[in-house]
Amino acid sequence: MKIQSITVYQVDLPLHEGSYNWSGGKSVEVFDSTIVQIETDTGLTGSGEVCPLGPFYLPAYGPGARAGIAQLAPHLLGEDPTQLVRLNRLMDHHLKGHPYAKSALDMACWDILGQATGLPVCTLLGGRYEEDFVLYRAISQESPEAMAAKVEGYRAEGYRRFQLKVGGDADTDIERIRSVAAVLQRGDVLIADANTGWLMHEAARVVRAVRDIDVYIEQPCPSYEECLSIRRRTDHPFVLDEVIDGIEPLLRGHADGAMDVVNIKISKFGGLTRARLARDLCVSLGVAMTIEDSWGGDITTAAIAHLAHSTPTEMLFTATDFNSYVTVSTAEGAPQRAQGRLAASEAPGLGVEPRREILAEPGNRWVAG
Ligand code: MG
Repeated sequence: MKIQSITVYQVDLPLHEGSYNWSGGKSVEVFDSTIVQIETDTGLTGSGEVCPLGPFYLPAYGPGARAGIAQLAPHLLGEDPTQLVRLNRLMDHHLKGHPYAKSALDMACWDILGQATGLPVCTLLGGRYEEDFVLYRAISQESPEAMAAKVEGYRAEGYRRFQLKVGGDADTDIERIRSVAAVLQRGDVLIADANTGWLMHEAARVVRAVRDIDVYIEQPCPSYEECLSIRRRTDHPFVLDEVIDGIEPLLRGHADGAMDVVNIKISKFGGLTRARLARDLCVSLGVAMTIEDSWGGDITTAAIAHLAHSTPTEMLFTATDFNSYVTVSTAEGAPQRAQGRLAASEAPGLGVEPRREILAEPGNRWVAG
């Protein structure tokens, strides 16, 4: 099988809540997503998506994803999309770094491999554990009272795990955590994600001030060393996210006992191939995971579902259904949450079909000569 053509589409994804706000005043109203279609000489077409969390979360941004794909696409024409590890090495040969630019291409090739073998991607990634898996809801940064109200609202929709966007003023963040904790019920899980927003002295104050609350602390400070410093002076369960962007930091974090949970974002690692490697390492090491991506719509959510559903249930701390946050549906067949839970499609590949109106947009296209 050979790659016959690669087409790239830009899609705007507005939010039901109007905006998504996190540490340092960062905010996005419309996400800039990139959808890739890879056609093969056998008539199969695979879909992939990459959607950075704005240009100021990880070193990634929407036009950068498309520029990276434009750099890679000519080198992938004529290659076998089902030889995924080989294909990833080829992408690394032609473009150093820029994992997020490779993610949608890798994802689309997994979709093709699944269709070619008649298997859902989650089977190819290791198997399907139980009926469905647990989601968290991200609570955009607002006043403590507004965030507590949002948690109650999403709780009524079935979510039981809540990730508060903190990383702002330390005193207000302490109030945010306390206000939300007050409305939780037994079995709910609370995560305070500072998204690198605190200096060490601020993080130290917050973790001490909420010591009596059952809350996970996620990525308090910008650097690994700062996070490790806070980790060593708190007994809260600890999640690392932004600084764990590959296998080396993952192994270092494990060796240092720097985290209890890591956040595996598909595009942060460069696609499903690399995210699976990280996932399998975490399973072996006993490190639980949040499995998600930086953002996205239906196709990203489908890929998350396959990776999450193929992760042993006890190792999956939580996952995300981004397609329920955005107002635009880009593909049919994408998984839809029910009672705060999600399941991967049982159809071959990712199980999604991009909508005609998305593919009607003019896209950049490379065709084998
Ligand atoms: Mg995070």
